[in-house]
Amino acid sequence: MQAAEAMGAEALLVTHLPDVRYLSGFTGSSGAVALRRGRAALVTDGRYRTQAQEECKGLRVVVQKGSPAVLAAEWLVAGGARRCAFDASQTSVAALDTWRKALPGKLRRSFFLSTELLVARLREMKDTDEVAKMRRAAALGCRLFAGVLEHIVAGATEMQVAAQLEFAARLAGAEAMSFETIVASGSRSALPHGRATSAKLPKRGFVTLDFGVLLDGYCSDMTRTVHLGKASQRERDVYHSVLEAQQAAVAAIAPGVSCGDVDEAARSVLRRAKLGSSFTHSTGHGVGLEIHEGPRIAAGQKQLLEPGMVVTVEPGVYLPGEFGVRIEDMVLVTAKGREVLTAASPKSWIEL
Ligand code: ZN
Ligand code: ZN
Repeated sequence: MQAAEAMGAEALLVTHLPDVRYLSGFTGSSGAVALRRGRAALVTDGRYRTQAQEECKGLRVVVQKGSPAVLAAEWLVAGGARRCAFDASQTSVAALDTWRKALPGKLRRSFFLSTELLVARLREMKDTDEVAKMRRAAALGCRLFAGVLEHIVAGATEMQVAAQLEFAARLAGAEAMSFETIVASGSRSALPHGRATSAKLPKRGFVTLDFGVLLDGYCSDMTRTVHLGKASQRERDVYHSVLEAQQAAVAAIAPGVSCGDVDEAARSVLRRAKLGSSFTHSTGHGVGLEIHEGPRIAAGQKQLLEPGMVVTVEPGVYLPGEFGVRIEDMVLVTAKGREVLTAASPKSWIEL
């Protein structure tokens, strides 16, 4: 609310569901939060009456038919608000138009004040409770990876590997996968986003697994690349360069360090190994209630790391037609440095 006030708004309308959940605890699929200094309401519809009252203790819960965002705006206007911030990066032009039309004529032009990522910025720093949840999600990811290794055999399809992993995840209590599981084998490992297909795992070659679970609302995200059969020297060399780059970036993580410097730590290792041009994406991203959130660990990013941020570090090298390697950990920024949340899963050379 302070950030919204600093921009000249006396109210804040929050409609992006992960932001709604962050502020209110509400996990339903239709809801909005209206905030004024000292007052806050969660607006939802009749389907969520009981759930909202249970999840949003200490918050005013307004249950009404209609668009939660429109009702939340009306609640703010009725309370005297005349200027209200909203997150333009999470609002469509059509939605804003609908909200405006619901306002009294004299407020239509002036009421909504466009801002960006006010709540998203808060979400970047995880509190103790959130860190505990993320630690559990990350630990589950590590256990699942250990369990799926026995299914990574020549002749099995990528989809079978993904299915085994996802089945085990649900049995272990995951609400869902945090994104579509990536299993990319053989020359397909050169695709940074090779979702699992019916392709069969080769007798010899890399298999990249990139996956995450959703546990208690929080996402995990990790990547391991294993090798089936005997590897060539070239494959080993590339793997070790990626590992060295990944470890250099992890080691660079500390409060006050810029995200761009973390990216550069990984990138410079691969450049020295003459693999710089094959590292075609950014080094990492924040993770939390959403699989991709701030901060971005990318070239030139000036944002400084702060304690409580959880970011991924996932450099990769992709050689089209040949193979690819990516290694990804989740890392918590601590007061003194860092803690790798996925440390239980080995990342030194894994040959099956
Ligand atoms: Zn990932
Ligand atoms: Zn990731």
